[in-house]
Amino acid sequence: MNIFVLLKRTFDTEEKIGINNGRIEDDGAEYIINPYDEYAVEEAINLRDEHGGEVTVVTIGEEDAEKQLRTALAMGADKAVLINTEDDLEEGDQFTTVKILEAFFEDKEADIILAGNVAIDEASGQVGPRLAERLDMSCVTTITKIEIDGSTANIERDVEGDVEKVETSLPLLVTCQQGLNEPRYPSLPGIMKAKKKPLEELEIDDLDLDEDDVEPKTKTTEIFLPPEKQAGKVLEGETDEQVKELVSLLKTEAKVL
Ligand SMILES: Cc1cc2nc3c(=O)[nH]c(=O)nc-3n(C[C@H](O)[C@H](O)[C@H](O)COP(=O)(O)OP(=O)(O)OC[C@H]3O[C@@H](n4cnc5c(N)ncnc54)[C@H](O)[C@@H]3O)c2cc1C
Repeated sequence: MNIFVLLKRTFDTEEKIGINNGRIEDDGAEYIINPYDEYAVEEAINLRDEHGGEVTVVTIGEEDAEKQLRTALAMGADKAVLINTEDDLEEGDQFTTVKILEAFFEDKEADIILAGNVAIDEASGQVGPRLAERLDMSCVTTITKIEIDGSTANIERDVEGDVEKVETSLPLLVTCQQGLNEPRYPSLPGIMKAKKKPLEELEIDDLDLDEDDVEPKTKTTEIFLPPEKQAGKVLEGETDEQVKELVSLLKTEAKVL
């Protein structure tokens, strides 16, 4: 089975994030595999182990994304591809990303493509479904279980806490949701092996694209952090006095009454 994973390198939203001139500051930011893409890598490995074939992990990004690709290889993926846009493109959006991926998949004959449900940094959730549309593939989002029998896929998907069962056929693109599996940590032998696994680097030229073909359709005009939380206020005195003061503060300061 020809299995592909779309993997995005994102900054770790658990860490402190700084913004300068409307851009996330690279300095001090920690970078990780988008957590939903870890479910995709794990599921791809499991499908490969059950049905045979190989797992290729694909990232559009810069040179630094090699680290996250090597981690996916250490988990057990077979090959990685970095589509490096560093020298060619300054800006991009979901259109750019999907256009590049569409060109990449043109000659690939993928049986299944696994993506994350959403990227935790920009969180549009567009890339998977838009790519499936461009490749004329079935698409099932937020999956929590998948079983493949021949060319049939039986899938369970999370619908706001409910479960929906779907049957579809390959070729197929799925987006992965929490609950699908427990992504493994790379083992030491896995890390050693990953160093020798193939990591191909492509540029948009190699995909017969130029800057005009992938020009973004949207522009991020501003990005900012939520306002800092004010320190809390501790009320003192008898309970009935505290209640009076609380009601007064809710009216005059919070203006919610
Ligand atoms: C050349 C280029 C320049 C860019 N410049 C900017 C910029 O200046 N400012 C800015 O804010 N953003 C920039 N972006 C990022 C872009 O706007 C989006 O982050 C990207 O299109 C994905 O959208 P998303 O993060 O909402 O992902 P979602 O649609 O939420 O992601 C869902 C899933 O799609 C897959 N996926 C998403 N992105 C990638 C990827 N890059 N590689 C492989 N798989 C992926 C993953 O499986 C992910 O879990 C740039 C992108 C490109 C390609």
